[in-house]
Amino acid sequence: MVEKSEMEKIYMDYLRQLSKASADRFLRLALSRAVESYRRNTETALRLFPYTVELAEKLREIKEYSLLHVDELISQARDMIEDLKGHFYLAKTPDDAMDYIGDLVKPGDIVVKSKSLTSEELHMNPRLEEMGCEVYETDLGEFLIQQLKSKPMHILSPAIHVPREKAAEVISKAVGKELPPDIPLLVGEVRKLLRGKFFEAKVGISGANVIAAETGSVFIIENEGNARLVTGLPEKHIVIAGIEKLVPSLLDAMIAVEVTSRYANYKAPAYVSMISCPSKTGDIEKQTTYGAHGPKEYHVILLDNGRKEMIKDPIYRQALYCLRCGGCMYNCTIYPLVAGNFGYIYMGGIGVPLTRFLLGGLERAAPIAYTCTMCGRCVEHCPMKIDVPKIVQKIREEAAKAGIMPERLRENLGEITGVKI
Ligand code: SF4
Repeated sequence: MVEKSEMEKIYMDYLRQLSKASADRFLRLALSRAVESYRRNTETALRLFPYTVELAEKLREIKEYSLLHVDELISQARDMIEDLKGHFYLAKTPDDAMDYIGDLVKPGDIVVKSKSLTSEELHMNPRLEEMGCEVYETDLGEFLIQQLKSKPMHILSPAIHVPREKAAEVISKAVGKELPPDIPLLVGEVRKLLRGKFFEAKVGISGANVIAAETGSVFIIENEGNARLVTGLPEKHIVIAGIEKLVPSLLDAMIAVEVTSRYANYKAPAYVSMISCPSKTGDIEKQTTYGAHGPKEYHVILLDNGRKEMIKDPIYRQALYCLRCGGCMYNCTIYPLVAGNFGYIYMGGIGVPLTRFLLGGLERAAPIAYTCTMCGRCVEHCPMKIDVPKIVQKIREEAAKAGIMPERLRENLGEITGVKI
């Protein structure tokens, strides 16, 4: 537990951050457009594929089973990944994971990354830079966030708060020439810049949306095509994912892909990659040789970092059903006012338990818990029907017991948010 003065600083910084964000009319405008478009697209996707709702119910059962049998699934995935000549590592803590990654990179290496919230638990980018690596986020939103030295404001659309004028400024600086706020042109410039980096990179690091234990296969859903390049071009591909991404079978993983995509507002995502081992060929005399056109080395790191503790508790366990589809944020009462400032790295109501266990501890989770109105709108719109208000209530109780919600700060928070807490 941190010192009282440090805790108060965390609260006051959070309050200031919320207050500043709630007065930002560009942020409000950007968010209101995004919310409207998200709701419209998801309605269309669910109207076209109405059976998705039933699939989501089935997926909730699959997730519950998987968490209750997680050790079994870990060892099944490990056996298969190793059998297929990949490497597997179960990291208990972020430091364990970073030590493992540290052995795979060298100073001067270019590392390309596709979107991974789990990598934030490791504070991966600054730590790779300390090791002498040059790190490039390749998802366009993440690229903007990295250049701005800011934090993601949505789990799926990290740069949701960056208007085109700001994007033009950032990209102009990155490419070294003045660019107008023309979106297709800006996208083209980032494409040119990163294309070279994909080919120069020694290491590609990705996350995973779901992992099928029976085959050890990792699934990545994306639209930009950057994850395909990150996982396909460098010599080494490293996957970093939480243990909650495991499901028993390939079919279960496909269900997770379908449900996640629909609730993330896509009729069909542009790409779904399924990766099970390093690239290989048996085309000469049927002799299997690793490292054909894709990576020679393939490493899967599964991270515990508090997840097993969450699994033990039936209320907190639910938070690990989360698909990171982002639907709850667009339907939240607070998020459209302040974006990802309602959170730490993991945001929104679902961010409260994830912050508590995976990233910032109770002292960072408590202010977020007290900002949540516990209105339950997120539960209605969540494909996994995660009971966020119940989870938040439990964390408020924990915080109160630990004495980390001083009355004075609670009043300040209420005044600033206009919410009775
Ligand atoms: S809590 Fe539910 S709606 Fe929110 S991101 Fe997770 S699965 Fe999606």
